[in-house]
Amino acid sequence: MILIDTHCDTLSVMAGLGGDYNAPPQTITPERLRQGGVAAQICALFAGVEGPAGNPAGLARKQLAALRCFTDEGIRHIKEFSEIRDGSPSVMLSVEGGEVFEGSLESLHEYYEAGVRMCALTWNHENELGFPHCKDSEKPLKPFGWEAVREMNRLGMAVDVSHLGTGGFWDLIEHADKPPMASHSCCLAIQPKHTRNLSDDQIRALVERGGWIGINFCSAFLSDERATAFNIDRNIARIADLGGIKNVGFGSDFDGIPCNPIGVDGPHQFPNLLDTLGKRFSKEEVEGIAGLNFLEYARRL
Ligand SMILES: [Zn+2]
Repeated sequence: MILIDTHCDTLSVMAGLGGDYNAPPQTITPERLRQGGVAAQICALFAGVEGPAGNPAGLARKQLAALRCFTDEGIRHIKEFSEIRDGSPSVMLSVEGGEVFEGSLESLHEYYEAGVRMCALTWNHENELGFPHCKDSEKPLKPFGWEAVREMNRLGMAVDVSHLGTGGFWDLIEHADKPPMASHSCCLAIQPKHTRNLSDDQIRALVERGGWIGINFCSAFLSDERATAFNIDRNIARIADLGGIKNVGFGSDFDGIPCNPIGVDGPHQFPNLLDTLGKRFSKEEVEGIAGLNFLEYARRL
């Protein structure tokens, strides 16, 4: 079974940058990726907690260097979604916070050359591209945001709406050439306390556009209590009820969340989660959720 996880903050932890939480370091290790049967772990280059006011490009470079922690242990660094193979674990790069481009398309091209194939336009700060979910959420994408999105659409780099405000989200749904995706988000109808979770209308719109949603494993996004595999299952079921059984998968956020679910404490425990999903969903549906849905999405880029 091809298993894909579209978001983690492991590189920022390895680069000594922490994150917005005191995450336990290295939930994701080469050994655990092998144990869990993960075919592709997408690793974010995180712009940093200070956003554009910090040194986003410098921080991203440090994290790029940390990729060696995986490749030195025989994990492949792949640059194309088509290189994802069952039984051969790999890492891929994404960007979390478009401020790492420093307002330059040339810089975006450099990240593409380095293998970045997904970019969250914002983290929790306003940047050159647009506005986050937590401040001025309803404001539209900025002119450089559109320049970057057009270029990402042309290159086949996924446009990630996790952390983006609602204004930017609906702009992309209505006007982007390619379907956007949410690499690590959950359902607002299940956990309304988190403005980063997606409303039913947003989920339906992503499904209708041929987008994709990776469920975040952060307990606080899933539930009022410490989550279990059941809470992840419940979020996937809601997306399925909204028509998205072929548009959903995993975006664990491991190493970026303060509290992993019980029984899903790292990639080595993916088999537990797949067992839980197998009680509700068919074998084909579980294979889709595990990775095939994402590969189908990638073919639409
Ligand atoms: Zn995030």
